[in-house]
Amino acid sequence: MTLKESSDYFSKLAELGINIDKKSVLLEKFIDIFLEYNQKINLISRNDFRFLFEKHIYDSLSLNLFLKKYYKDTPLNMLDIGTGGGFPSIPVSIFFNNINITAVDSTLKKIKFIEFVKNELKLNNINPLCKRAEELSFGADFDICLSRAMAELRIILEYAIPYLKEGAFFVAYKSLKAEEEIKNAKNALKILNAEITEQIEYSLPIETENKRVLIIIRKNAQTPGIYPRKNGLILKKPL
Ligand code: SAH
Repeated sequence: MTLKESSDYFSKLAELGINIDKKSVLLEKFIDIFLEYNQKINLISRNDFRFLFEKHIYDSLSLNLFLKKYYKDTPLNMLDIGTGGGFPSIPVSIFFNNINITAVDSTLKKIKFIEFVKNELKLNNINPLCKRAEELSFGADFDICLSRAMAELRIILEYAIPYLKEGAFFVAYKSLKAEEEIKNAKNALKILNAEITEQIEYSLPIETENKRVLIIIRKNAQTPGIYPRKNGLILKKPL
């Protein structure tokens, strides 16, 4: 089924405040490339294949629930940590031309895939980067940081918060079972001078296990210079 045959996709994205109209050709091209590539390298789990739109693209674009509330069309410098096959980076890049995205992953074949998509779709606002998150040569440069399905909250906080400007936001994509992770992240939030300001709940357009939440975290002050620590420590001795 193509996007054009599925007016459903149009109305689903409208629920997020997104107009698919001018982007449907690009989105369709991305879906085609993704499905072909996914047979060669595993970008998402095989079970999720049929739900590429519902579970991955729609979920990525739920970011608009945050953006439309906090920003209008402000140009933004965004970092996506552990982007894998480009989620949320690629859908965000297609729909938000005013956002400049650095998409980081430590796995080369995934970054190569994003480079391929960037060239095929002529996406000028996405910069794929093959590096470990804790070894980036950025400072506190970003307006927004994102991470989806990458690690437990207290761990991704250490990867993400140092790269944010003061007053900027980290958006963590989680399932609704995040309460435990939030409890365990108290110490990390304190040490990194950050706080959870809001949780935006939404549902994926599927029947079951569809509850999701964007955890919105503000960086209130500078991060102490020792963070992020070397990867061994981040994982072995989480904050
Ligand atoms: N965000 C994507 C991928 C999630 S899988 C999605 O939602 O589908 C997690 C990804 O994080 C993997 O691709 C893995 O290579 C990457 N990753 C794990 N640890 C990392 C680190 N320290 N630095 C950069 N990438 C990392």
